[in-house]
Amino acid sequence: MSEPYQSPISPGRSWYEDSVGERPRYPALDGSARADVLVIGGGFTGLSAALHLARAGIDVVVCEAARIGDGASGRNGGQFGTGQRLWPEEMEEKYGLEPARRLFAMAEEAKAGLHETMVREGIAADFRPGQISLAHRTRYVDEFRRHADHLAERYDYPHLRFMDREETAERLGSSTYHAGLRDVGTGHLHPMKLLVGLGRAAARAGARLCEETRIESLTRTAAGLWEARTARGTISAARVLLATNAHGGRLEPRSAAHVMPIRSFIAATEPLAEPDRVLPGNEAADDSRFVVRYFRKSADGRLLFGGREAYTSASGDIAGQIRKQVVSIWPHLSDVRFTHAWGGSVAVTMPRMPYVAETQPGLDVVAGFSGHGVMLTHWTGKLYADRLTGHGDPLAALRDLDIPAFPGGTWLRAPLLFLAMTWYALRDRL
Ligand SMILES: Cc1cc2nc3c(=O)[nH]c(=O)nc-3n(C[C@H](O)[C@H](O)[C@H](O)COP(=O)(O)OP(=O)(O)OC[C@H]3O[C@@H](n4cnc5c(N)ncnc54)[C@H](O)[C@@H]3O)c2cc1C
Repeated sequence: MSEPYQSPISPGRSWYEDSVGERPRYPALDGSARADVLVIGGGFTGLSAALHLARAGIDVVVCEAARIGDGASGRNGGQFGTGQRLWPEEMEEKYGLEPARRLFAMAEEAKAGLHETMVREGIAADFRPGQISLAHRTRYVDEFRRHADHLAERYDYPHLRFMDREETAERLGSSTYHAGLRDVGTGHLHPMKLLVGLGRAAARAGARLCEETRIESLTRTAAGLWEARTARGTISAARVLLATNAHGGRLEPRSAAHVMPIRSFIAATEPLAEPDRVLPGNEAADDSRFVVRYFRKSADGRLLFGGREAYTSASGDIAGQIRKQVVSIWPHLSDVRFTHAWGGSVAVTMPRMPYVAETQPGLDVVAGFSGHGVMLTHWTGKLYADRLTGHGDPLAALRDLDIPAFPGGTWLRAPLLFLAMTWYALRDRL
């Protein structure tokens, strides 16, 4: 029997790969090609852009270095969240009230837009409603309470409610946390089912999808076209969308200076013997740690638990470390069997808001959604398509964000990030 497929760019085989059903293969590009738009990267961003461009009649080619689903989009926690990665309070402080409101409203449109795409394209991705956030220190309790009021009063968001310690324990199946927030306006899904569905929809709409087609270099010709070199040919296009997120390496140096990869890990248990003792309402959960713990149950009753980060390419004993975190919340799961353990690369920026830029004429970059990209990447890909098809400049609000480059230049930024992250992770434990 042949070995199961293993992503060449992310560690471990995920439970998603084993439960996604048929995962179509798209042939590698063989020879040269022309297109109106070249999309580099077959994650949510790239496939959403391709789907919406193709639906508008634009000739689009997507090149994916590995297979669709090998990057973050096929391997994540599947949680939608609400708003942007920064809370509205933080955005107000940074950008002012009106820009914060626009960014929050954009994220609400993203939620609705993703549901609409799934319905229109017939994508069944096991969506389940509800999300709870958990305070792991008493100092977050008042902040949580104020946050729910803030969203209701200033953002007209009525779906978020503060939970006291008792209710939090009931909804979690554990009394480990001090309080929580319950958001019934969001939810979680099987990300790889969504991604595979988006790929099929894009191909149906006329986009050409090429897997195992790495873009090795990008150059702009005197005629103003972009030429992308692959191992087996060259693609020329009037416009390029770089949707490589944490996997872009140095293909485009300006974005490489603004976006950095962090590894995050998830492990999946066997179906739980007593599923109602863990998250009985089937909500997704995340907590207030800097190295956030995020978890939910799958449709077949497994616990999918994400909780460890690494700032180097080493992955270590993923399931062993996640087991400790699981048992610290639900001691009765001390002997539960883990069937899968995997990791993925999250792209972060300095302020934890996305990096959206036209770094050179005709070359757009969309990246850096931290652990908050499931719905936002889809929407940003759509807004990119809207911009190219004459629907104004809906990406302006994201392009206008001040996203500084990581300090330290090419050699020092990785060790500096490592030090900063380690410090925050240490603070979680103190
Ligand atoms: C473990 C983990 C958990 C997460 N949990 C959540 C969550 O619960 N909720 C949430 O909202 N977000 C979560 N995220 C973040 C979310 O998954 C990402 O924000 C989102 O998937 C990014 O999508 P993308 O299309 O921009 O990038 P990706 O999905 O990473 O796709 C980029 C693709 O570009 C390809 N590529 C790179 N270089 C080249 C090249 N030169 N030529 C061709 N192709 C190239 C890569 O192979 C890759 O497939 C998580 C991420 C991880 C890793």
